[in-house]
Amino acid sequence: MTNEKKLKMVLGPKEQHWVGDGFHVHTLVSPSPELYPSITPFLLMDYAPPSEFKPTSKKLGVGEHPHRGFETVTFAINGEVEHRDSAGGGGIIGTGDVQWMTAASGLVHEEFHSKEFAKTGGTFEMVQLWVNLPANKKMTPPRYQGVKNEQFPRVQLGEQTTVQVVAGKCLEKVGPCNTYTDINVFLVDNKLKDSIVLNFKEGTNSLVLVLRGKVFNEQKPLTEKSLLIYEREGESIKLDLEENTKLLVLNGDPIDEPIATYGPFVMNTREELMQAVEDYQSGKMGYL
Ligand code: MN
Repeated sequence: MTNEKKLKMVLGPKEQHWVGDGFHVHTLVSPSPELYPSITPFLLMDYAPPSEFKPTSKKLGVGEHPHRGFETVTFAINGEVEHRDSAGGGGIIGTGDVQWMTAASGLVHEEFHSKEFAKTGGTFEMVQLWVNLPANKKMTPPRYQGVKNEQFPRVQLGEQTTVQVVAGKCLEKVGPCNTYTDINVFLVDNKLKDSIVLNFKEGTNSLVLVLRGKVFNEQKPLTEKSLLIYEREGESIKLDLEENTKLLVLNGDPIDEPIATYGPFVMNTREELMQAVEDYQSGKMGYL
């Protein structure tokens, strides 16, 4: 019997806003000083719930913009995202694929629906996560990892619940995405009503986003777009799942360092932020 982590808070969906003209997102968490201790090493989570896009020849998304000091992780739950960055990274991720982009010392990139997807239109659903880097890794070179759906190991839990291991480890299966600190990222899917336990380290933060279905917390159903945030204390999370539920589960070692944020930059001090703006403006983060 392991010591269970207690649910600390549940955040509901905020009003949707457009990121460029391609991503209609709910920002479930962003890096405020108040919230950061509960969500670190994660900084931000944008969720674009399923929505229909009509066929178009337009490029839908966000054009060239910079990042420094962290990683952006994009989950194409449904649809296709095309990415290109000034460090030479790029590619198209389709349904079930994940892109783990380390901005670190800085780059500029663009994020669009793929040309093919825009042309045919259809249901688009995506999650973008910002993952913090520790101070001593913020200025390492950028890195790009694009991982296909079929490359992820899957673990069977409970009755018929599948855990897709994106990063970290679940029952000895290791996810293919490399991380700078200890992080577990799982996509959990079940058909039948089920109850599962995920084991994590003591002292780590854990977040669960409900994409489909329901999670029960002491009989109370938490429905789609709910974000569950757990206490650091404890070593496991118990999830009571309604049938046909889909979750994004995040867990990681906290990075308990000061954060300073300004738009697309997340550093430790104001001076570093000012340096980031200067480096971007003078072209040190490169061009597309
Ligand atoms: Mn971006």
